Amino acid sequence: MNPIFNNKVFIYNLQKLKLTKTFIYPPLLLIKNNKMSFKYEMPVKLHIGNGEFNKIGKYIKQDFNVKNILLVTEKVLMEKLELKERLLKQLKDCNLTIFEYVEPNPHSKIIEKGKRLAQKNKIELIIAIGGGSAMDTGKAIAMLMTNAGTINDYIHKRRIIGRESIPLIAIPTTSGTGSEVTIASVITDEETGIKMGIRSEYMYPNIAIIDPELTLTMPKHITAHTGYDVLAQAVESCLSNSNKNPISKMFALKAITMVFDNLKTAVDQPENIDARTNMALASLYAGLAFTQTGTVGPHSFSCPLTTFHNINHGYACILPLPAFLNIYAEKCGKEVKNEILEMANVVDCKTVEEFGNKMKKLIKDTGEKTRLSELGITQDDKARIIKNTMDVLTGRDPIEITEEVVGMVFDETF
Ligand code: NAD
Repeated sequence: MNPIFNNKVFIYNLQKLKLTKTFIYPPLLLIKNNKMSFKYEMPVKLHIGNGEFNKIGKYIKQDFNVKNILLVTEKVLMEKLELKERLLKQLKDCNLTIFEYVEPNPHSKIIEKGKRLAQKNKIELIIAIGGGSAMDTGKAIAMLMTNAGTINDYIHKRRIIGRESIPLIAIPTTSGTGSEVTIASVITDEETGIKMGIRSEYMYPNIAIIDPELTLTMPKHITAHTGYDVLAQAVESCLSNSNKNPISKMFALKAITMVFDNLKTAVDQPENIDARTNMALASLYAGLAFTQTGTVGPHSFSCPLTTFHNINHGYACILPLPAFLNIYAEKCGKEVKNEILEMANVVDCKTVEEFGNKMKKLIKDTGEKTRLSELGITQDDKARIIKNTMDVLTGRDPIEITEEVVGMVFDETF
């Protein structure tokens, strides 16, 4: 199931999907000639809706003939979401093994521990339930069940993933990373502090179950932080120089508007299922966008903020975003500036600065601070933040990211 869209099929499918005019209008406008050619690949089967998690047994029976299943999750989610009881009810004919040791920003030792348990129990399918950390852990273990070596071989030595992973079902409980539909698993080597996205077409889950009810238990600050991730990923996707295309852009623009329309409500009213549902969809849309394009500078800059200063991933991504936008707009020329203005326009901003200020207002309105100096970071940290950012650049930014550029972002965000 690897749909490759050519111009004709792409337009046909948009009509078939009955997307609204406003939804498809901005990106289609940008197509200036009919020589467009691009690839959009998204092999994940989606089940979306409140209560969908309770149908997982049926979905597994429909698509797989397996007995030995591994649940990859966090202890705290096991309790909060009553995962064991609910899964045992659904998977009566299966042997369920539980790996509940996922931690935020998963590191290689945890992956290896999960792999050993999976090998010992001859696991045939993995269900990863949680935020990006649990889904990425599940992806990495599923991959290592069929590919030799350790996870560090793939982080550092860039070993090629040559074989299909065992089947994986990804079930998000945050609305942020979009990992349920992405090509990457982000793992940190705890010894070097290098946090790297391992990208392979074999990293895609087979199925994603997006059940917004699972996000109702998220505390306010996690709701905010993961929501910032949606915004950062959508914006960065539109600025990547790699495989940006009208479909990725359509999803990104929609995600941007949905975050501004829904995040504050989701933070203020955690039980509001409409806001939760819209944020779950926004996260999915941003995932559908950036899995094509990858991310750029702000995500690289987020790595040292998370690794050395314990700032949650999404929060760490949004902090430098306004400064990056200013620098891209100033240094990249008209085309990139127009790209940023197009994003700004969908949320009624007329300038790049206004767009950045609107992001900062959203951060404040959802209970957080906007400056590194307010989060305990000092000038003494600058050199290490620059170095670690340079170590994890994606190479997809619209300008060459130098130490000087990262230093400017640091100063503007400080
Ligand atoms: P997370 O998975 O690290 O979870 C953060 C915290 O939220 C945890 O303490 C967790 O227990 C809690 N939590 C999650 N769901 C909850 C719920 N429903 N109720 C109560 N508490 C809940 O956070 P995240 O932001 O979703 O994921 C971040 C990780 O994902 C980072 O490692 C990041 O690099 C990675 N990431 C991966 C991709 C990808 O494409 N693979 C994309 C973006 C980010």
